[in-house]
This record gives sequence, C-alpha cells and structure tokens, in this order.
Amino acid sequence: MTTEPVTHDPRVEIGQAEELARDLVVIPNRGVELVPNIGIVGGSEAVLVVETGLGPRNAEEVLAFATEYAKGRRLWLTTTHFHPEHAFGAQAFAGAATYLVNSAQSADLAGKGPGYLEMFRGLGAPVARRLEGVELVAPDQVYDEGYELDLGGRVVRMRATGRAHSKGDQVVTVPDAGVLFTGDLVEAGQFAIFPWFPPYDVDVSGLRWIEVIRRLIDTGPDIVVPGHGDVSGPQLLTDVRDYLELLRDETWKRRDSTVSEETIVAEVKALMIERHPEWAGRDWIEKGVRCLCAERHDG
Ligand SMILES: [Zn+2]
Repeated sequence: MTTEPVTHDPRVEIGQAEELARDLVVIPNRGVELVPNIGIVGGSEAVLVVETGLGPRNAEEVLAFATEYAKGRRLWLTTTHFHPEHAFGAQAFAGAATYLVNSAQSADLAGKGPGYLEMFRGLGAPVARRLEGVELVAPDQVYDEGYELDLGGRVVRMRATGRAHSKGDQVVTVPDAGVLFTGDLVEAGQFAIFPWFPPYDVDVSGLRWIEVIRRLIDTGPDIVVPGHGDVSGPQLLTDVRDYLELLRDETWKRRDSTVSEETIVAEVKALMIERHPEWAGRDWIEKGVRCLCAERHDG
C-alpha cells in the first residue's frame, strides 16, 4: 500500500525462491512495493503456503510453484492479514488448498475487503491490472485465538495477535526451524505501515502494535520473515519496537501542548527521517503520527 501513484508491476518473482531451512522456502519480495514475502512450509503430509501475492494471476503462479514443490502432499493456505497484496489471490487456491485463517481476519476481509479493493484499484494502472478478476473468497476454515497445524512431523503454530497493524493480524511460527512470519507487523528497511485512513479505516493501533511486538520478541525466533523487505534475525523485532516507541514518545511529547497536529507531523517526520535516513516509505510516518495523536494511554 502506498500514497504515491504506483508505476511498477507488483509481480511475484517465483524464480527468486530461496530455501531458508529444511523444507521451508521463501519467495522474497526483493524490496518491490506491493509484493509480500511469501512462505512455503512443508511437512511429510502437507505443505502450507503463507500469503497469495496481489491478485489472481500472481496467486496462480504461487499455487503452481507450491503444487510442484508439494509433490502430492496436501496443500494449505493462510494469510497474515486481509490486505490485498497478502490475501487478494486466495480464489486461485479454491479447490486446491484449504484456506485457514483467524476469525478476526476473516471478519476484516468480509467487512473491509471490498473497500480496499476499490482503494487499491485507484493506486495506479499496474495495480488495477493485477486486481482484474479478483473475487474475495471466504476462508474454508477459521480459528479464534490459536491453531496448531500438523503438516506431518512438523507442527506450525498460528496465532491471532489482536488488533495492531489491522484488526485481524496473524503470525505464523515454525518452531523446529525458529522461523516467524510476521506479515506487516514487521517490515525491513522501511517505516512501519500505518493504514490510517479516517473515516474509512482507523483500526490500526500504534499502542497495541507495540505490545504485540514485545510479545513476539519474548517468543525468541531465530529468523524473522517480515511482510516486506529482507529476511532478518531477531534484531529486526527490536528495531521495529524501538521505532514505534520513539514515534509514540515524540508524538505524545508534543500532543498535549498548543502545537497544531500539522506541526507535530512535520517535526516528528523530520526526526524519524534523521534517525533512519535509509528507510523507505516516509509517507507512512505521517499516518503513524496521526494515529498516535488519536490514541489515548488506555488504548
Ligand atoms: Zn498490511
């Protein structure tokens, strides 16, 4: 998602797939906006795909790759949250994979999916082309708080985190490999994405997000697969926590004064860019500040 017109094709590059651990592959996003990191996790009986890519044609390619990779093993699909580049390709998996997500994410898709489809179609012609023919399909199976998916000799842990980047965020952990898929709760090399679009969508919560990241740090993963950006070590989690805490502190320091919100945005944005000059996605700082301006201590 972006606030600038998109001129590139957000295409998933299957040929870039890399093995991260035994029977665990990531199709990396290569730093391309609106392309998520996609995971494929195998057990002796089944294979789980994490994220679809934007639109049915990307997802068909992911499915073809996963089918070949699975060599007859049963296929599962999950998505970390309902945002279009993560989930708006699920229709391609219908009949081929069982689509399993947390119930809050399923509710997000039903309630907000159509609005996001319209919004994303307006982001630029290449995005609109990728979204041609999209149908928003309901998951085959939902769970409430957590689910242990047994792939055969390997159990994958799925957890609903509670509202943070969206209402229905989910993380996926592969304990035997120490791998954590975070979706957009964590990004590498860019500012945290705050989908703060009042009055249409104000679900994102900076405060809850900080709490979620603290809990993820406590789980001690070895490898973190962010929603976008390079696969990294656990340091990435503390980097994101530190950024979110600084964003909160600098915003709140100014919020209770007579300073206007526009001034708060300008000052905090300049500070954050100074702190992370190499990070992309600078427009997301403003949305983060406005979100935190609206949030109270009690969340
Ligand atoms: Zn997202």
